[in-house]
Amino acid sequence: MEKPVNDIVLRVEHLKKYYPVSGGFLSRGNKFVKAVDDVSFQIRRGETFGLVGESGCGKSTLGKALIRLHEPTSGEVWLNGVNIAALSNRDFAPYRRQIQIVFQDPSASLNPRHTIEAILAEPFIVHGLYKNDRAQMKKEVERLMELVGLDSYMLNKYPHELSGGQKQRVGIARTLALKPDLIVQDEPVSALDVSIQAQIINLMVDLQKELGLSYLFISHNLNVVYQISDNVGVMYLGRMMEITPYQGLYKNPAHPYTKALLSAIPQPECQGESHRIILEGDIPSPVNPPAGCRFHTRCRECMECCRRKEPQLKEIAPGHFVACHLYD
Ligand code: SF4
Repeated sequence: MEKPVNDIVLRVEHLKKYYPVSGGFLSRGNKFVKAVDDVSFQIRRGETFGLVGESGCGKSTLGKALIRLHEPTSGEVWLNGVNIAALSNRDFAPYRRQIQIVFQDPSASLNPRHTIEAILAEPFIVHGLYKNDRAQMKKEVERLMELVGLDSYMLNKYPHELSGGQKQRVGIARTLALKPDLIVQDEPVSALDVSIQAQIINLMVDLQKELGLSYLFISHNLNVVYQISDNVGVMYLGRMMEITPYQGLYKNPAHPYTKALLSAIPQPECQGESHRIILEGDIPSPVNPPAGCRFHTRCRECMECCRRKEPQLKEIAPGHFVACHLYD
């Protein structure tokens, strides 16, 4: 089960997460929502991997499957050389410290009945740390507050007494309590004002440099992903369509879906007219995704083979992978 540990903190191989669908009285056979369908990628130590795609493409489900908030259906998740997807809940417990998550809505992710101090002390209590040394636990909680730029006088406050940005700082501090290697950031700034978004992103970048963290940064906002990511993955209907270094995202997008997403970013008038690619039709159902390329029902460059054969990720330049028959 052990693989050699190198600078890869996370390697995901052929991960699937299917949810059974109740088809009702007249339905025959089992149906599944294929939220994540055969996804592979890796994250290096100290790197940020941005994950983008439309709502419902499976990016948040992927993040939750990685930390086993939702149990993966199949596939491998190698965290620091250990396949955590194959471990029992009991065996996985020690590895939970190494991978943490920041949720989208800071208000919903903090217990409204607990003080900030109780919220930040909870990871220590759950993992049995500082059991006999409450003073040291308090010092650790104060250290977390300092790390995320909050004053320790807020420790006695409740979440509803803090602003949205302050609550998200508490959410980030909580993930840092157990000194993780990897943090899944699930749309961490999309519920915040634009000015606060910038503060939180700067905080995350500073913490990454200071603590050597790796991030999986999930967002539907390509501009935010571009700011923070080293590599970017583009998901559509449960599949990874393109993986590219962040510079390549704007300079050299290859997949027709990535190009359409980029064209939807509003541009200032002074930069000239932008060529918007309008995607026709709705996203197909993840219960019954189209045969061949999943994007073929909306792709302007669809060819005959696209309807029959599913394209696999192929490296077209160093570090740049695309799943599209245009590059066969
Ligand atoms: Fe379009 Fe075909 Fe490429 Fe799919 S494989 S994105 S349908 S050109």
